[in-house]
Parts: sequence; structure tokens; C-alpha cells
Amino acid sequence: MALSGLEIYKQLPKKNCGECGVPTCLAFAMALSSGKAALDTCPYVTDVARENLASASAPPIKAITFGNGTVMGDETVMFRHDKTFYHETTLIVQVSDALSDDEVSVKLAEINGLEFDRVGLHYSLEGVAIVNESGDAARFAKVAATVAAGTEKSILLISDDPAALKAALVPLASRKPLIGEANADNYEAIVNLAKENSVPVILKAEGLDALNDLVEKATALGYKEFVLDPGSKTTVQKLADLTQLRRLAIKKKFRAFGYPVLVFTNHTDPLEEIMEASVYVAKYASAVVLKTSAKALLLTLMTLKQNIYTDPQKPIQVEPKLHSVGDVNENSPFYITTNFSLTYYCVEGEVESSKIPSYILPIDTEGTSVLTAYAAGKFEPEYIWDSITKSGVMDKIKHRNIIIPGYVAVVSGKLKELSECNVIVGPRESSGIVAFTKTLN
Ligand code: SF4
Repeated sequence: MALSGLEIYKQLPKKNCGECGVPTCLAFAMALSSGKAALDTCPYVTDVARENLASASAPPIKAITFGNGTVMGDETVMFRHDKTFYHETTLIVQVSDALSDDEVSVKLAEINGLEFDRVGLHYSLEGVAIVNESGDAARFAKVAATVAAGTEKSILLISDDPAALKAALVPLASRKPLIGEANADNYEAIVNLAKENSVPVILKAEGLDALNDLVEKATALGYKEFVLDPGSKTTVQKLADLTQLRRLAIKKKFRAFGYPVLVFTNHTDPLEEIMEASVYVAKYASAVVLKTSAKALLLTLMTLKQNIYTDPQKPIQVEPKLHSVGDVNENSPFYITTNFSLTYYCVEGEVESSKIPSYILPIDTEGTSVLTAYAAGKFEPEYIWDSITKSGVMDKIKHRNIIIPGYVAVVSGKLKELSECNVIVGPRESSGIVAFTKTLN
């Protein structure tokens, strides 16, 4: 049972020194009880108090690491705006061992080829799940070995047969795969196998009561590296279970459910499957295992994931240096914008569409858009001109034209005075750039 803020406060040194980042021990106790602080931040906690507070200071959802460093869990809030989400939903595509060797190779090539760049970030699948549908332990081990040799992605080994899991796991133990699924019938053998090989294990039981029962039994075996699968049959039930598991772990600090949650999709039609997976990415799957490896569909899922897991307190930014689009020369137009990724890539895309090689300088506005930056005093003419001179662009162009975003036309006069350049007010929206370029000489 979690301790209240006052119960935690009784164990703290009561020096009110502020070294933990909050002004008083009481404020620190409250932050600790709500999972928004770590006990280690206070250097004066006694060993006795540390032991007593261990459960209160433990994260409500344990971080589980597998494969090539894939981390799941370690979340502390229900909603991103409460603080932040730490780990994006891990996306995994499954490969059945019932496929032929050629089909396995094709699937693997598709999985490895799923790479995307969006607003300056690189995305790919995190894992491959080898599923023992053949019922044959030797075939399972062979396909697992083939997949492991053909990809560096994190590996999951999925079978309810402990012997098949052991055959596949032992040669691959150094890849630290996530194994499962342990259920009420086989949990002793599978959890012990995971424990012997120091790999995390998926516990699966349908219904939260049965899952709680299974976690307690598995914990009694002296192991705690768990990932939970509520085993729900429908999308609606999965969503309800995911929400309840997150709520119980975060709000009630219910330790049995303080683990990452993994779900498998049910739909077989790829489009329906992606829609189903979108529900789980939104709320609250730590990992989703899909069947489809269709690139066009997975791009939509990764875009959704990016939108949900990008922390608005840390906007995605591009490097505030001079960028060139196309084969630039001394006559190329020169644009300035901000280093907020979405703004920059909108401008870059439109400049590219104009088919006129150009220079673009994203001014460092700490990742804010044009109007926000101007309102915050981060897009002032002095600062813009200082950034332009430091970028070296004036040595690369022989004209003295600077194109500024239409929304900050107000800075044009002062910028002209400072730079002694011709300041051209561009369109307000990047979508107007192509038409705008036709007005340039
Ligand atoms: S660092 Fe420790 S003693 Fe100092 S205010 Fe924070 S909790 Fe209290």
C-alpha cells in the first residue's frame, strides 16, 4: 500500500534546506507520494528511512528493458500534461514459425525496411516477435535463430510451451529477448526459465483478477521482471483493461499491476489492425504486437505515436545552422524562419517544391513557431541579424536579400537598418512560398 505524503514526511530529515529542488521537506514528501520526485534527490535521508520509504519511492510502473535496449514502463502519470510520458509504445511485428523459410525472409526484409524520417526524427520498428504457431519446438528455435541473425531489433519469443521456449531462448540469451507467455498452467516453468536466463517474461491471464493472481504466484518464485498481458479478447475490453491497469498502477500504486502492459492485435485486415493498434497506442499500451508489416500503414501508426509522445515542454527542434535546399549558388534566395521542427520542415518542403535552390536559416527560438517566438521576444531584429552574421550566409550569397516570414513583417524596418540589406516580407504561411517565388526576380 502506498504511503501518504504526511506518512512520508514523518520519515524525512525536516531540515527544509531545499537541496532536493523544492523548498521544504513537506513539499518534497507530497511530490514523492505523487510519483513526481525521486527519494535519492534528498541527500540526508537515513538508511532506516530509505528502507521504510522504498515502496513509496519506487516508480509506480517498473521499467523493463529487453533486447537492444528497448525500455517499457516507468510511467508516472495518466496524462501527458500532468508531467510527461517517458517511453513511447514499443511497436513489434510478429513472424510466425509456420511460415516457410522464404516467407520468413520476405517478412524480415519488410520489417528491416520499415524506416521513416519525420520532422527530423528517425523512426523504425523496435522489435520482432517470433510466434510458435507450428507447435514444433525445433522449428520455433530455427526460425528464432534465423530472425535473430537477420535483424538487430529486439526479439520476443512467444510460445506457451516451456520446452519450445527453452530451445529458442538458450542460444539467444545474450540478445536478452522478452519471452512468454506464462499463464496459470505453465508459469512456474516459464518464469523459472526467464529467471535462469535473466530475461523479462510476459504474464498472461484473462481478466484483471486472474492477472493479479498470476502476478502474485509468479512473484512468489522470486522474480519481478514482468510484462503483463491482460489477454482481453476484444478491442473494447483491451482498452478497458489497459486503462484500468494504468489507473490502478498510477493512482492506487497497486504493486501487482506496476509493470508495463503488452497487447496483441486481434484484427487480420491490415487497415482494421492499424486502427485497433492506434487505440492501444493512445491508451495505454507499453507495447503492441502487430501482424502487418505494410509500410504505408505503419507510417500512420508511427505518426500517431510521435504526436502523442512528443513532449510539448520540449518542442522538436532543428539545428539552428544554415541549411541549403538543392544545388545552391551565390544567387540563391535566402529565407529565415524559426528552428521549431514543424515550422522548419513546412518551409523546407515548400522551398523544395518551388524548385529554386535556396538557403534557409532557422533562427534558434528554442523550438517555438514564428509568432510565438516574436511574442516571447526571441525573434527580434538584433538577434536575427546576429544569427545571420554568425551563420556565414553573407559570404555565400552575392545579393543582399533576406526573406522573412510574413507574420513578422514588423521587424523588417529595423532589420533593414541593422543589416543594410533588402528585407523582403515573404508569405505568412509556408503554403504561399511557391506562389511567392514567382514574384522574385
Ligand atoms: S533535501 Fe531533504 S532535508 Fe532538504 S528540504 Fe529536501 S527533503 Fe528536506
